[in-house]
Amino acid sequence: MTLAPAQPTREQPARETTYRRVMLKISGEALMGNEGYGLHPPTVQRIAEEVKSVHDLGVEICMVIGGGNIFRGLQGSAQGMERTTADYMGMLATVMNALAMQSALEGLGVFTRVISAIPMDQVCEPYIRRRAVRHLEKKRVCIFAAGTGNPYFTTDTAATLRANEMKCEAIFKGTKVDGVYDKDPAKFDDATRYDTVSYDDVLAKRLGVMDASAIALARDNNLPIIVFSLDEPGGFRGILAGEGTYTKVGG
Ligand code: UDP
Repeated sequence: MTLAPAQPTREQPARETTYRRVMLKISGEALMGNEGYGLHPPTVQRIAEEVKSVHDLGVEICMVIGGGNIFRGLQGSAQGMERTTADYMGMLATVMNALAMQSALEGLGVFTRVISAIPMDQVCEPYIRRRAVRHLEKKRVCIFAAGTGNPYFTTDTAATLRANEMKCEAIFKGTKVDGVYDKDPAKFDDATRYDTVSYDDVLAKRLGVMDASAIALARDNNLPIIVFSLDEPGGFRGILAGEGTYTKVGG
């Protein structure tokens, strides 16, 4: 199976991959390693190295990191907190994760910008689409923080929104498993992985790739979602080169 077509308009094609600009979405939980909460610095470092190895190919990289390792709005509202307040707390958690990733990437010599949907000028840049595009053209990794800036959304929707705005060729969703299965592979030995699956099947069968609004936004803009395992060393770079196992949603 071939991956997304190259876009011939941009200069300096990346080696080993046809992709020029991609979105990497990871959950906040991916940063906590085997800890039950918060950030696990060696795990943050390992993921930063994965991102650097793709950046070294000349690929322009956008990132969205969730906040579930620190706070989720639904969790707060279940404990009696007002929902929108809880969601803003979740959005602030994503800013902390973005700063941790920025620090790790810059420690590896990769230039980055943290760009927040909620302005906080002392900490990071506000989101201005044209400015973000310019950063990408200058090969700075853009880490989009604070989700969409609105309650009742998730960072999956934020990743899809920014991927569309930045004209990414695909979203790479790094998870703990190597794709989308018909049932939970952690619970069922006979779970089968899809090579490809349509957006409508993901929605109809509730396959749990991303929430429904993110899938619908990807579908309506024909943006492929590649689900792969972030636990596999070299996995991100391999998947961009079309190697390894993964599931492609839509496209
Ligand atoms: N959130 C929000 N609006 C957004 C993105 C995120 O309100 O556009 C809040 C929401 O409360 C969510 C939390 O931020 O639970 C953390 O994001 P998410 O659950 O997507 O993180 P992940 O599961 O990817 O770690």
